[in-house]
Amino acid sequence: MKRIIIVPFTSHGVLEYLDALKESLAESLRRAGVEAEVVVWSEVLKPPIKCFNWERKQYRAQCLIEYLRSTLQLSGVERSTPVLGLGFLDGYEEGLNFVFGEAMPNLSAAIVFSKRLRQEFYGSPPDFNLYFERLVKEAVHELGHVLGLDHCRSPGCVMNFSNSIVEVDAKTRYFCNECSRRLKG
Ligand SMILES: [Zn+2]
Ligand SMILES: [Zn+2]
Repeated sequence: MKRIIIVPFTSHGVLEYLDALKESLAESLRRAGVEAEVVVWSEVLKPPIKCFNWERKQYRAQCLIEYLRSTLQLSGVERSTPVLGLGFLDGYEEGLNFVFGEAMPNLSAAIVFSKRLRQEFYGSPPDFNLYFERLVKEAVHELGHVLGLDHCRSPGCVMNFSNSIVEVDAKTRYFCNECSRRLKG
């Protein structure tokens, strides 16, 4: 059985959701026919300042992913074990204003930035259920990339590319049949 590790990068906005998140991740994979044991890393990693862009006030996704991989490797986690970082942070990548998440399949690692998944970010009242639903979708999506999937246009599939919160809300937390088939193969 595949072991997947979720690693918090902040306490705020993350820790209270982790138990439910790991169940939801395992459930999405199970529905795709993949049995996985999802575990939560016991410490909160501090995002390194070298990954912070002071002009943009955002963290660079690839920098955090590389830091995540090397930190876990130092703690004895095999390089092939999928790891997913999660932080209540704002992230970007070169050429993009922001990203909800990013994956580096060659490192078997990904990150989800959850600051823009909150209703408050858009000036709306808090909605914890909606925030959690978005967290799950983005976590499953980035994990899908780590497990070898590309973007998918099948309506509702979690592997749809989301460039806005409207697009996140439009998809489900599940893999379509084609993506499920690829995951198993
Ligand atoms: Zn993607
Ligand atoms: Zn799909």
